[in-house]
Amino acid sequence: MRARFPDFRLGNVLATSFTATLTERRGDAVERIPTPQRFVDWLAVNGLAVESCTTAQLELARELRESIHAAATATAVQDALPASAIQVINDCSIQGRAAAVLTPEGKRQWRLSSASCVEDALSVIAADAISIIAGERDGRMALCASPTCQAAFFDTSQSRTRKWCDMNTCGNRQKKARFNANQRKNGTAARTGVI
Ligand SMILES: [Zn+2]
Repeated sequence: MRARFPDFRLGNVLATSFTATLTERRGDAVERIPTPQRFVDWLAVNGLAVESCTTAQLELARELRESIHAAATATAVQDALPASAIQVINDCSIQGRAAAVLTPEGKRQWRLSSASCVEDALSVIAADAISIIAGERDGRMALCASPTCQAAFFDTSQSRTRKWCDMNTCGNRQKKARFNANQRKNGTAARTGVI
């Protein structure tokens, strides 16, 4: 029987889709790349297909992920960037050999130096993180308003007032919580009315 793994959170920013492979960091954390093969699956979904991944490569990926999370969080709250996070992000960026290529349809694709080179894929993710942390792209780093989440996300909304890392999960949960609180309040009011 094939094991069921938690779904991936899809987003349109590679670096924060990557940090979202660990969610609910401040609550009951959910690891969405629990095995090397699951990380291979994640890379394929994100246009960085590799043939295989070792346990050591998965560990390196998670180290990069937590470094991006730390640096992005510091950026969002306008703190100094942690030196150790900068080191890991830079090392990963430098170590890989990936090239951007243009498809006949005018789309960008990543060409890795070999199909087994997870390090190449990590360098693409690291470079993406650098571009958003350095403010090279139009948007703002922000933290999810859910207290159990607090994920760093890249807000590209026009007003720059997005509150949730993901509308379908954290945003929805908050809406439901507010709805239930209102129901309770109204329920109490109704009972008081009867008495
Ligand atoms: Zn969130």
